Amino acid sequence: MSEVAPKVYGWCPGALRPMMSGDGLVVRIRAPLGRLSSDQAQAVADLSQSYGNGLLDVSARANLQMRGVSERDHPALIAALQDLGLVDTDAAAEVRRNVLVTPFWSQGDKTHALAQQLSDALVTATDLNLPGKFGFAVDTGPAPVLRNTAADIRIERTADSLVLLADGAKSGLPVTTETAVEEALNLARWFLDQGGAPDGRGRMKPLIARRTPPSAHVANLSSPAERPTLGQTATGQLVGLEFGQIPATSFADLATRGALRLTPWRALLVEDASNLAPLPGLILDATDPRLRVSVCTGAPGCRQALSSTRQLARDLAPHVPAQSTLHLSGCAKGCAHPASAPLTLTATAADTFNLIRNGKASDHPAQTHLSAAQLRASPDILTKGS
Ligand code: SF4
Repeated sequence: MSEVAPKVYGWCPGALRPMMSGDGLVVRIRAPLGRLSSDQAQAVADLSQSYGNGLLDVSARANLQMRGVSERDHPALIAALQDLGLVDTDAAAEVRRNVLVTPFWSQGDKTHALAQQLSDALVTATDLNLPGKFGFAVDTGPAPVLRNTAADIRIERTADSLVLLADGAKSGLPVTTETAVEEALNLARWFLDQGGAPDGRGRMKPLIARRTPPSAHVANLSSPAERPTLGQTATGQLVGLEFGQIPATSFADLATRGALRLTPWRALLVEDASNLAPLPGLILDATDPRLRVSVCTGAPGCRQALSSTRQLARDLAPHVPAQSTLHLSGCAKGCAHPASAPLTLTATAADTFNLIRNGKASDHPAQTHLSAAQLRASPDILTKGS
């Protein structure tokens, strides 16, 4: 185990309820339906340069994140984001409207309509006091693409209908476009009634592990699709972001080519675009080794970080074998990849890491006290003895 136990907050920052970090406030924008029009995206890029650190992150729940915002500038930033229609009017509505949408929808189709209805219903459901991390997924493309993304209540499609699913359950409730949203809110109320969130914290999956879902949840589920790869799709071009981050200038340039849809895969879908040109921070090649590396903010941006992380991730990426992945974590909390990874480097002090094989950032290390210089000089340390 690493020497220092990380602090667990149990809530995620929003725009109206930002979190203070090592480099200022973290402001997370829940763009409605995960989409920014070209004008919205260019305006957000400007705001990132005026009020933030000039970089934008896309989170594992497809939210857009600005860092380095001062407390003094926060009200002006929020007013600007509200003018753009990107922020709710109150923090409680912002917490409830936690809806992840498959990016492969078309204007006016079933997915678009369901996501809009669900978002609207959650904003007005003031009786629903859900935990801050509790979220919904509208994943109604031909096959589910969001199964590996955290969500507590999912709407998916089967061969002949829609199905509502409690995360972790093996079967779901058959629903229609007319009933799906109401039943999703009913399932959220069931979660609360069953004691899923004692002390205001909790997730659906652990509840389902202790308790079977409601008896009407008998419909079979579809098999999930493979994770989408970068490149051309029917909806536009899917482009990667280096470690989930992009300079605001590149974000603005990209937005001149189309509206941007946020995805949970450290990628953006540029609507109706093709043959996009390279930009700083952008990954166009699906075989780029940086796609095999997950890395958190690290020092100095995160107060809990024991070391900087990103440059080492950049330097080690070409040495991660094609079939493997590396998780580089600034502390044992493992924010960038909470699950197990073939290779994990967890910082234990400045430029000093533990190497964990087939485990999480907090698991028992195979090697300790590896310096960043040592790893750069002999990156085969990662694979030797594996
Ligand atoms: S894992 Fe990284 S981002 Fe998360 S708390 Fe630790 S240092 Fe900070």
